[in-house]
Formats: sequence, structure tokens, C-alpha cells
Amino acid sequence: NWLLITTVVAVVLGIGLGLLVREYATLSNLDKFYFGFPGEILMRMLKLIILPLIISSIITGVAALDSEVSGKIGLRAVVYYFSTTIIAVILGIVLVMTIKPGVSQKADDMDRTGSTPDVSTVDALLDLLRNMFPENLIQACFQQVSGIPAHSFTQTHPTVFWFSSMQNVTKDYKIVGLYSDGINVLGLIVFCLVFGIVIGQMGEKGRLLVEFFDALNDATMKIVQIIMCYMPIGILFLIAAKIIEVEDWDIFRKLGLYMVTVLAGLAIHAIFCLPLIYFIIVRKNPFTFALGMAQALLTALMISSSSATLPVTFRCAEENNRIDKRITRFVLPVGATINMDGTALYEAVAAIFIAQLNDLSLDVGQIVTISITATAASIGAAGVPQAGLVTMVIVLTAVGLPAKDVTLIIAVDWLLDRFRTMINVLGDAFGAGIVQKLSKSELERMDLSSEVDVINP
Ligand code: ASP
Repeated sequence: NWLLITTVVAVVLGIGLGLLVREYATLSNLDKFYFGFPGEILMRMLKLIILPLIISSIITGVAALDSEVSGKIGLRAVVYYFSTTIIAVILGIVLVMTIKPGVSQKADDMDRTGSTPDVSTVDALLDLLRNMFPENLIQACFQQVSGIPAHSFTQTHPTVFWFSSMQNVTKDYKIVGLYSDGINVLGLIVFCLVFGIVIGQMGEKGRLLVEFFDALNDATMKIVQIIMCYMPIGILFLIAAKIIEVEDWDIFRKLGLYMVTVLAGLAIHAIFCLPLIYFIIVRKNPFTFALGMAQALLTALMISSSSATLPVTFRCAEENNRIDKRITRFVLPVGATINMDGTALYEAVAAIFIAQLNDLSLDVGQIVTISITATAASIGAAGVPQAGLVTMVIVLTAVGLPAKDVTLIIAVDWLLDRFRTMINVLGDAFGAGIVQKLSKSELERMDLSSEVDVINP
């Protein structure tokens, strides 16, 4: 597939270009900004398409099913999301307790940059629920007003507040609340699910709306096709600009064992756990399936955002892996928002690593608390770069660790973020394959009854 090949070539060229420029040129901050510009345009295009894509795909996806079938598919998807997330968390905990990356170091010897985020666990969890019910639909589409009162904190990291792109230039800014990604995706999903079910049940009267969103979905996917032609160029400059930008490579040596633990966990989950579950249920080769998703996985690795990768995930799942649109339209957008195995694994490892740095031995109750809050924090994290780092605060405060210690791992987070996002996307894709298999009889029955409708209208 030519697009995959050009993207791989773009990644290699981008890394080469980045290293060359780093070695032989001294760029001012402004030059660096210009250098990243073609990549910024790609990100803007992908972000632009998220809103119409999520809205049209969920509404048409749910409206196409009768409520009993959509309920069953929804339940299967949720069971899959939860069980794989829990498996990822347990895997992370086992690895970090075995490898013990933080035991030989002291938190006091490490650099803490930035100031203290201050968000209580209860506030954060309530905020997650609150976001499911946006009070203003239009506002939910562009500016999320988080419910967390007065817990504003300064974060010295460029990409957390990512949807407002100017934040990438200024390095100091405020985050108010936890889920500030610009779009309240969770709230929109809940609304679109309900809206889709309702118009699907309205019969003739609702048909106009169903057809409207169906056409919107087709048009959106056509635009995605256009964006994908630009993707290799955007990716080339994105990766080159990142390599030029990183200042402190030394920190990778310092945090090496921690990174190895996270990466090993992600690799085991991706190469062993998820494929095994897929194989047991679907009885097909999971690696052929994963290969079909290669373009989406590479995109996730390059742009660190499940939401912005969503257009590519859709195309790979539907075109390469032939997953039914009635399944992808529901399972993929919801998965990109709430099913984050990589993030959950990372949050558990990072929290225990920070406990080890602080010489704190955790009891069983605390470990259980970490697994539960890491799962919740991964559900609450938006599918945007480094959202997981922000929701980490929930996990840390739940076991009484200093929330400011997220700053100990901030310097390497941009790299780990890429890999965990890749696993998040892979988890969603396998989920779609598994839910399709489990829902085969319902889908066939629906196909049959629509054929009967055509013969006997
Ligand atoms: N970047 C991740 C994603 O988009 C979320 C995170 O873990 O920060 O899936």
C-alpha cells in the first residue's frame, strides 16, 4: 500500500533531517517554529475532521441498528474495553514491582520542573461524570468548561493544552481543570448515542435526519482521503521538528529503566495479550489484522493522539480489515475516547515508580487503589497528546503521593506518550474486530430482514 510506504519513508527521512539539522545548524526558536509548520498544518487538518467524524459516525452507526442490537453491541464493547484495560493495568503493576525502576534512585536527586498541580481525586472523578452531560452542546464542541473549581495550576509542558495550538509556542500557561482538550468528546458521544437511537426509532419521520448524517459521514471520509495524501509530508516535518526541539537527551539515560518498564509492558500487551484475546474469540491471525492497522499505528506513534488518528483508524479498519461499518462507527470513536489500555498501563507503572522514588512501600489496598484509579484516569484522559500525564494526578493523590511528582517524569513523557497512544489505537481496533465477531448473528439477521424489506417493501 503506497501510503504506508511513503509514510514509513517520511518517518525515516524526518528522523534523518532532524538529526542533520541538530548537528549542523543552529536554529533560533522562531526557525524551529517555522520548521514545524508543515506538521502543524497536518495536525490542524486532522483535528478539524474529528468533530464531524465523531458526530456523523456515532449517530449513523447507532441509528442503523435497532435498539436491542445496539444495546448488545454497546455492552460487548464496554466489557471488552474494561477487561483489556484491567489486564493492561495488572501487567504494568507486575512489571514495575518486578523491575523496580525507582528503587535505587531518590526523588530528591531528581529534577522537579514546573509547579504543583492540585486536583483532588473526588473532584476529578466527578468531573468525568459531569463531562458526560454537557449543559451546552455548542460549547461542548469547542470549549470545554471544566467543573473543577479554582484548581488551576501552571504546567510547564507544551502539549497538554494541545487543541489551542498557540500553546505550543508559549511554554508556560494555565490548565484549568483536568479534561481541557478543547472539545468535550465524552459529552458529545453520550449525546450522539442518545440522538442516534432516537432518530433510528422514529421510522419514516426520522429518515431525513438519518440520511443527512449518513451523507455527512460519507463526505467526511472523502475529506479524510484528501488529508491522507498530505500525511507523509506533515509527518516528515513533525518528527524532524521534534528531534530538533528536544533539549535534554541525558534525561533518557537517567529514567532509562522506567522507560524500559513502560515500553516492555506496552510491547507485551500489544504482542501477546491483545492478539491472544483476538485469536481466542475471532480465530483469525491477529498479526495480519494488526498489519492491516499499520498506517493508523504509525500515525498514532507520530502524532500522539488517538482522537486525531481516528480518521486513519476508520479507514484501516474498514478497508484493510473489512470490519462492518455498523461496528466501526460505534466501537472506534467511543474506544478512542474511553478505551486506553496503553494509558492505563503507563499510569499504573508511573505511579508505582514515583512511590519507589519516594521510598514508599505500598500495601495491597494501595495497589488496588492504583489499579482502579489508573483505569478511571485512562477513561477520563482525552485522546490528545499527554492527556495521561495530566490525569496521573488522580492516581497519585489517591494513594497520598505528592502530585507535583508528575514533574519527575515529564521530560520523557512525550516519547512514552507516542507508544502508549499506539497501543490505545491497537486496542480499539482489536475491539472492533472482536465485537464484530461476537455480533455476527445479529448483523446477519439485520441484513436478512433488510433484504426482505427490499423484496416486499
Ligand atoms: N495521547 C494519548 C492518546 O491520545 C492519551 C495519553 O495517554 O496521554 O491516546
